[in-house]
Amino acid sequence: MEIKLEKAETLKEKPDSSTLGFGKIFTDYMFMMDWNIDKGWYNQRIVPFANISLHPASTVLHYGSEIFEGLKAYRRKDGKVQLFRPIENIRRMNRSAERLCLPQIPEDMAMEILTTFVRLEQDWTPDAEGTSLYLRPFMFGNDETLGVHAVHNATYVIIASPVGSYYKEGINPVKIMIEDEDVRAVRGGTGYAKCGGNYAASNRAGERAEKKGYSQVLWLDGVERKYIEEVGAMNVMFMIGDEIVTPMLSGSILPGITRMSCLEVLRKEGYKVSERLLSIDELADAMKNGTLKEAWGCGTAAVVSPIGELCYKDVKYTVNNGEIGKVTQHLYDTLTGIQWGKIEDTFGWTQEI
Ligand SMILES: *Cc1c(COP(=O)(O)O)cnc(C)c1O
Repeated sequence: MEIKLEKAETLKEKPDSSTLGFGKIFTDYMFMMDWNIDKGWYNQRIVPFANISLHPASTVLHYGSEIFEGLKAYRRKDGKVQLFRPIENIRRMNRSAERLCLPQIPEDMAMEILTTFVRLEQDWTPDAEGTSLYLRPFMFGNDETLGVHAVHNATYVIIASPVGSYYKEGINPVKIMIEDEDVRAVRGGTGYAKCGGNYAASNRAGERAEKKGYSQVLWLDGVERKYIEEVGAMNVMFMIGDEIVTPMLSGSILPGITRMSCLEVLRKEGYKVSERLLSIDELADAMKNGTLKEAWGCGTAAVVSPIGELCYKDVKYTVNNGEIGKVTQHLYDTLTGIQWGKIEDTFGWTQEI
């Protein structure tokens, strides 16, 4: 595979790394390639970051054939840049693609593209505490027809954005509203795929929660509104007594790489960890009788996000006095330590570029 480079005439000025937000500033270049059902992947290119021109009938604009990934490049203290478990993002993107009838990208090709692009743009990886270069690979169906079918043409793109620390003001536990009306996904649907459509379906509940002063919703299952699934766009974990419980992957839950990493760290350290069904009634009992010790969300953006309050059917429950718990803090320290190269990576998760 040859990746052509179209040089930008001028390069942008890099932002001050202490003032970064999320996903507003983009680097000089983006990667693009196209796919056709007969030709396969072709025209691999790195081009100056710019708008994308689409046919008005392009599939993605009408039928939502879109999937994405999110991962970060981290600047270590020694100045080198590294990725965290990128092969897992590549594999998940292929699983998402399979679900939405979008094309597969061979793993070695996807890895070569990712590392080539990050190597080119690595100077954009900020170095202030907690900052990183957020990478957003995405793929969309791009047939120029309104006919409905699995696409014959698709486009794959990677853009990159230097992002600030998620916790500029320290790790403050968030308030979560348990959503018992809208659902994010159903088994048999696209819940396990990282696709834009899942987000479009989530926004209404998220808006309602925000209006009531909550930062995210806790999703329940789509059939019975009984079992806990995720929190906002993160996976969720609870410490009930001495057991750490997270909903098992049943098809409607996104298999997070942070989730998987938390479980691997906890199991290695001898914690009792269960991936199982967790009903809202069991959680409500644990909140009432004080056995719910800690609760947190986990995902690439925040790493872990402690939950300080849960509201279910207008009853409010405080978790761990609204403070971050020991296990939550420990997971945060361990994962961020490995990601930014501050502690030894005994798992072999990091990849220097
Ligand atoms: C991306 C995502 C997550 C977290 O996945 P990570 O790989 O840990 O970043 C969890 N839930 C949803 C709905 C997501 O889209």
